[in-house]
Amino acid sequence: MKLNFEPFYQELIDTLGAYALAACTIYTDQATIAPRKGASRSNEALAILNSLAFKLEHDPEMYEQIKAYQASLEEGSLERKEVDLRLLDLEETKEVPADFYRQALHTQAEGETCWLEAKEKSDYEMFKPYLKSIVADTLKIISYSPRFNGSNAYDLMLDTYERGMQQKQYDEFFEVIKAELIPLIAKVNAAKPIDTTLVDADYDIDKQREFAKVLLKHLKADPERVYLSETEHPFTNFHSHDDARITTHYYENRFLSAVLSTVHEYGHALYSLQMDPAFDKTKLADAVGCAAHESQSRFLENHIGRTTAFWQLLYPELVEAFPEFKDVSVDELVRQINASQPSLVRTEADELTYPLHILIRYEIEKMMADGSLDYDKLPEIWADKYEEYLGVRPQNDKEGVLQDMHWAGGSIGYFPSYALGSAYAAQLYEKMAEEIDVEKALREDRFEEIRDWLEKNVHHYGASKTMREIVEEVSGKPFDPHIYTNYLKDKYTKLYNLD
Ligand SMILES: [Zn+2]
Repeated sequence: MKLNFEPFYQELIDTLGAYALAACTIYTDQATIAPRKGASRSNEALAILNSLAFKLEHDPEMYEQIKAYQASLEEGSLERKEVDLRLLDLEETKEVPADFYRQALHTQAEGETCWLEAKEKSDYEMFKPYLKSIVADTLKIISYSPRFNGSNAYDLMLDTYERGMQQKQYDEFFEVIKAELIPLIAKVNAAKPIDTTLVDADYDIDKQREFAKVLLKHLKADPERVYLSETEHPFTNFHSHDDARITTHYYENRFLSAVLSTVHEYGHALYSLQMDPAFDKTKLADAVGCAAHESQSRFLENHIGRTTAFWQLLYPELVEAFPEFKDVSVDELVRQINASQPSLVRTEADELTYPLHILIRYEIEKMMADGSLDYDKLPEIWADKYEEYLGVRPQNDKEGVLQDMHWAGGSIGYFPSYALGSAYAAQLYEKMAEEIDVEKALREDRFEEIRDWLEKNVHHYGASKTMREIVEEVSGKPFDPHIYTNYLKDKYTKLYNLD
């Protein structure tokens, strides 16, 4: 497929694409291999590049030109869709006074730096004033949106991260999560715990690095298009249609962490690599929502990376790399990989308890958005919710309210997309399993079949459809969170021999 834009618009896309690629390259370089002392110079370059891109796109004349161009495009065409998505973004911030916007970004940057230090010192009081300002600034920015009606601030925040998703829909979603998963978690907790000594033992980091290559080989990663490196926090950066960078972190005593994060990040990478190549540089690639992206990373992590079939395939090479595993059966290994235990830290949570970590953040964000949050009591509110939903209580701010950087980075409304993504993944998996024998394909080292199904049914659309639309079209029924909770019920009932 080819997109045909007017020359002025194609030039805009190409120029913004060049700025974005340069910024992305600097960012990946900083996070992976750049010597720390080079940061101030490369931060300066990043700020200049970003502001040049911002100026170009937000120029009032350019805006008018794009607006006129939009009217000339046929509704329903991909070109029109691209322009619609760009204008939607531009209009969100168009009326925000430039001085205020700059100041808000500055507060946010300082807030992030403060959060890092506050987390290290486990001192919420230090971060509190920044958090209050960041939330207030976010609300003020939202108030300039043409879609703001005085009471839908959280809807607009949620929409930033997953188009079309509003509080009402998330409320319904989390009601199902609460009703179905809280009793299941309680049953699992009362059951005989799974001994995870083996997966929690210490494993040589160089061997873990080698094993990551084995994983990517079986996931049929193209080394000419995907590059794996190491960072403190794993992420994926999309440089272009043919260039995705993924990172992981190896821990001596958390073997699974690097394995599952590599599979997870590869899921993100695969999504962007399998979009229609014509979408490269355009909003049809860029504007994919966070829940949409998480649905693909969690699809790989949960429905591939945690399965018996996948580990049957990997087992010979696993034992070769780590002879410690030779006395354990694949079934036992997979039991350990999937063991569930309520914990305090979201990023280390298992598949079953994970959505409850998100629920807690969702409930707090609603209070931020409607102004009812008492910031003085936030650590207590956080701890009470952990106790209520997961039966564990953080003893300090580091393992409590300060653990994530999202709010410090101004991302309010982001968290819920993580849980929704897992639910989308479950509904897509159900359909895939009707059409292909996923387990057989995995056991026989034919991940291509799974990859191609995802390309054809999901990935190639990019942002031309929302993930909700894709899920409903592919599965032939409305999105239903019970598919996700039933999948978890079924899996954990078997795993823990519940009745
Ligand atoms: Zn992810």
